[in-house]
Amino acid sequence: MATHTDSGQLWPGLAGSYYRLPLAMVATAPLAAAQAAALLPGGMPLADSSPYNLFWIMLDRERRLVASLPPSLLRPDSPSRVAAPLQARLQRLFPGLGTLPWDKVWTGWVDMVPDRLPRIFQPVPNLYVPLGYSGQGIVNATVLGRELGGAIAKDDFADCAFAITDIRPAPLAGLLPRLTQAVIFPLIRTGNRLFL
Ligand SMILES: Cc1cc2nc3c(=O)[nH]c(=O)nc-3n(C[C@H](O)[C@H](O)[C@H](O)COP(=O)(O)OP(=O)(O)OC[C@H]3O[C@@H](n4cnc5c(N)ncnc54)[C@H](O)[C@@H]3O)c2cc1C
Repeated sequence: MATHTDSGQLWPGLAGSYYRLPLAMVATAPLAAAQAAALLPGGMPLADSSPYNLFWIMLDRERRLVASLPPSLLRPDSPSRVAAPLQARLQRLFPGLGTLPWDKVWTGWVDMVPDRLPRIFQPVPNLYVPLGYSGQGIVNATVLGRELGGAIAKDDFADCAFAITDIRPAPLAGLLPRLTQAVIFPLIRTGNRLFL
């Protein structure tokens, strides 16, 4: 059952095994070639791997600058409002950058787990529930799907690269997502705007 953040609605106990959190993405209008090259020479993406303050930027093939960040509580549909902490951070990193033309915003849900390691739960025989990509499932879910599919096809789980366990609860799964959205995300956004 690879239904990501909807899995909690589909099987008892799963809702408490991860933190369902919103994540926003923003994109600029296509940038001038010189500005794009000044930000990301050669088109290479940039990422800071801090687990507490995720920060990455990339250019798409139309030279739109794309990034993800916690959504804005008050104006989640406004590209410039959602991107404001990122804009401030970029201006500190790239003095003289100016205001970027923030053009698009969209928001989805991610399945955070405390150790940020994807896992496979097996609540009953023959039901497998991958979860816990923690906002990084594009590669992880692809690899996990190959591993799990291969193990199911062979009916041999000994070599599966991901541990298969009972459902493991995530501490404070009811409270933490609400606290994160109401308090922690606004603090991160303010911190990014002002200092970080
Ligand atoms: C804004 C945003 C930015 C992100 N950026 C990145 C990134 O840069 N890098 C990265 O690695 N990851 C990123 N992620 C996370 C990544 O998208 C997920 O980790 C990944 O998509 C999880 O894969 P999945 O196959 O488990 O779930 P999904 O890709 O969400 O697929 C689950 C599928 O199940 C379907 N489904 C749900 N319920 C049911 C049902 N009852 N019946 C039938 N079908 C159902 C859904 O329609 C969906 O098609 C981002 C996520 C968001 C929201």
